[in-house]
Amino acid sequence: MFKALVVDKSEDGVVTSAIQELDDSRLPLDGNVTVAIEYSTVNYKDGLCLTGSGGLVRNYPHIPGIDFAGVVEQSDDARYNPGDKVILTGWRVGEAWWGGYAQKARVKADWLVPLPKRLSTQQAMAVGTAGFTAMLAVMALEDHGLSSEKGEVLVTGAAGGVGSVATSILAKLGYDVAGVTGRPETADYLKSIGASRVVAREELNETVKRPLESETWAGCIDAVGGNMLARVLGQMKYGGSVAAVGLAGGANLPATVIPFLLRGVNLLGIDSVMQPFENRQRAWQRVVSDLPLDKLEAIVQPAKLSDLPELGAAILKGSVQGRVVVDVN
Ligand code: NDP
Repeated sequence: MFKALVVDKSEDGVVTSAIQELDDSRLPLDGNVTVAIEYSTVNYKDGLCLTGSGGLVRNYPHIPGIDFAGVVEQSDDARYNPGDKVILTGWRVGEAWWGGYAQKARVKADWLVPLPKRLSTQQAMAVGTAGFTAMLAVMALEDHGLSSEKGEVLVTGAAGGVGSVATSILAKLGYDVAGVTGRPETADYLKSIGASRVVAREELNETVKRPLESETWAGCIDAVGGNMLARVLGQMKYGGSVAAVGLAGGANLPATVIPFLLRGVNLLGIDSVMQPFENRQRAWQRVVSDLPLDKLEAIVQPAKLSDLPELGAAILKGSVQGRVVVDVN
């Protein structure tokens, strides 16, 4: 028997969750690797799945948790053997498939990544989808010509999961990082993880009035979308790129095309869910080399399975700071 946080929906549409004891017969039949999970985490999407919002979960009862890290218990795939340490992020695990809020999962070998040397399963989940995505965003900006001498890089939603890891990585790489936050009380935290200045959310969340503002940012990692992304596009330096990662402030993009046409600004889409295996490995290797582990510790708060319903609601309100690591055992 093993423990899992099971989310269910009543006939009148109310979503509830409870920790249950399950046996192996409940594990999905279409997986070919069974993993003893050590840690999971809480991302924005987990908040949606835990609360039944956003229409991500179609079938109940469901086990959320879009990320996990653990040890292979049994494998029908030649790439993995019992005892191997693995990470899983994306592939709609925890949304359409059994997720990481359990002590066990059975998944497709294609979805796994071997845990990089020099990273523990706990550290991998401190990174999680949010941090992995932050790394993909940094890689995309670099691939489009960003380097530290080009100028200041903006991170929006800076005190959140993606934003905190992005800030730490960029600072370690020598970038001058400005972090946008709606929580002024996080200023010391943001500076401690590498932001050189903090920009108040109010400065950027009003609608676009002028399609071009003064050229301020050499690059941007945007977790917010909406008005903020639209405003940032008009503030990019000539040829600069914005990596669009999230929609914490809205899915609309009320912008003009002028920054693309007159300043050669690039808008780069970042998807962590369907990334090919080779790029996943490249990103995890970059996490090991470019994310300072002492900074990672500073952004982590520990949690247990029983904390998840509360944390799910909190992340949707934008009130979780940094990254949550869930010890499922
Ligand atoms: P968090 O909740 O940890 O961070 C989001 C941050 O955005 C908040 O902490 C807050 O930062 C800011 N924010 C929240 N609401 C608003 C608002 N209304 N207006 C402006 N800013 C706001 O979530 P994650 O970091 O886990 O995820 C961030 C986003 O990235 C989400 O939309 C998520 O779905 C998306 N995402 C996308 C992925 C992909 O593959 N493309 C992968 C992972 C995440 P502060 O308090 O500092 O202002």
